[in-house]
Amino acid sequence: MKQLQSTSLVLLHHHLKALRLPTITAECEKLARQAAADNADHLTYLLQLTELELLERERKAAERRLKAARFPTHKTLEGFDFAARPSVNKVLLCELARCEYIDRRENVLFVGNPGTGKTHLATALGMAACGRGYRVRFFRLTELATLLLEARDERSLLGLKARLAKLDLLILDELGYVPASKIGAELLFDVISSAYERTSLIVTTNLPFESWTEVLGSERLTGATLDRLTHRCQIIETKGESYRLRDAKAKLREEGAAKGGSSSGRDRPRRSALEGGQTSS
Ligand code: ADP
Ligand code: MG
Repeated sequence: MKQLQSTSLVLLHHHLKALRLPTITAECEKLARQAAADNADHLTYLLQLTELELLERERKAAERRLKAARFPTHKTLEGFDFAARPSVNKVLLCELARCEYIDRRENVLFVGNPGTGKTHLATALGMAACGRGYRVRFFRLTELATLLLEARDERSLLGLKARLAKLDLLILDELGYVPASKIGAELLFDVISSAYERTSLIVTTNLPFESWTEVLGSERLTGATLDRLTHRCQIIETKGESYRLRDAKAKLREEGAAKGGSSSGRDRPRRSALEGGQTSS
């Protein structure tokens, strides 16, 4: 009997492997013992096993999507201090995190000075989208321009564009630091045009719209890019001073206060000693 059981088990593992059900393979014996102890029927046992397999698959797929998106750092909306950036509407951001704009193929544009949380918010929305099953890719704009130029030289532009076309959300971070070459700007424009009404875009920039011509080179291209990008788009301004600067200033103030506090603390006994000395003299 024991012999038969172990033979069946080997066969079962073999079948489960062939069917690519690793979680069921790993859990079936433990759960069978549990089901026997609980007097659970066969269908309940099967339901529990298949649920475990599905959950693990979803977890792995979410992990793969997150890796494929290549976020430079991981950021969340929970980690964003909305009180420090009143121009950013928390309700709107939470709504965007539900990703309905991606189903509607709409875009999101973050405009504001350096250090005001644009990359943080774009990443947080991207990560929320990964969690909900969307295919996302994060690029710094200069990185994408370089990649496009290289692909063009290597005659692999079509392949790259096909990969981009498969995305649900394309994040282009930091439009504005480096002016693109004429060809680079045209290739970027081509990506933005192809994404229009097919893939959602999140773009972050520290440049007001008037200055986009400096990056893209020509007024015609800038106009056409803005036209596509801002049609059906949420524009979110991150107004105010840099969070890093604010943080650094707050730390300096804290340090100053701590020093001030401890030195006056140190001064006090000295003064009293002095006073004591004066009294004694
Ligand atoms: P930007 O892209 O606008 O230059 P970042 O998003 O890179 O700014 O922000 C700079 C740093 O400050 C990041 O580490 C980011 O997580 C942090 N940061 C910015 N704004 C906030 C905020 N309101 N709450 C928490 N962290 C913030
Ligand atoms: Mg940034």
